[in-house]
Formats: sequence, structure tokens, C-alpha cells
Amino acid sequence: MGQRMARCMGCGSYTLKETCPNCKDNTATPHPPKFSPEDRYGKYRRQLKAIAKEE
Ligand SMILES: [Zn+2]
Repeated sequence: MGQRMARCMGCGSYTLKETCPNCKDNTATPHPPKFSPEDRYGKYRRQLKAIAKEE
């Protein structure tokens, strides 16, 4: 354990490499270690908007 599986964005196969051995496309880890602050605030903003709409 300790190695992070990455998923190919092109063919969807799993690999430990940064590029897919099949189609040479970039791979991405399905569970990124850090949350994006932009995503967090975006979600928070959407919640506020939903509450404001109900009032
Ligand atoms: Zn691929």
C-alpha cells in the first residue's frame, strides 16, 4: 500500500503512472488529497443562495 491509483481520463483504466500506458493520456487520482478552497466557497455560496430563495 502507499501508492495512489490514478485513473486515465481517456480510456478510464487504472494505473499507477501519471500517463496512461494504453493511450498516453493524462491520469487523475479519483480522490485528491486536498480540497479546493474555491469549491468549498462555491458550495457555501450555493447554500446561502438556496436559503435566501426560500425566505
Ligand atoms: Zn488510457
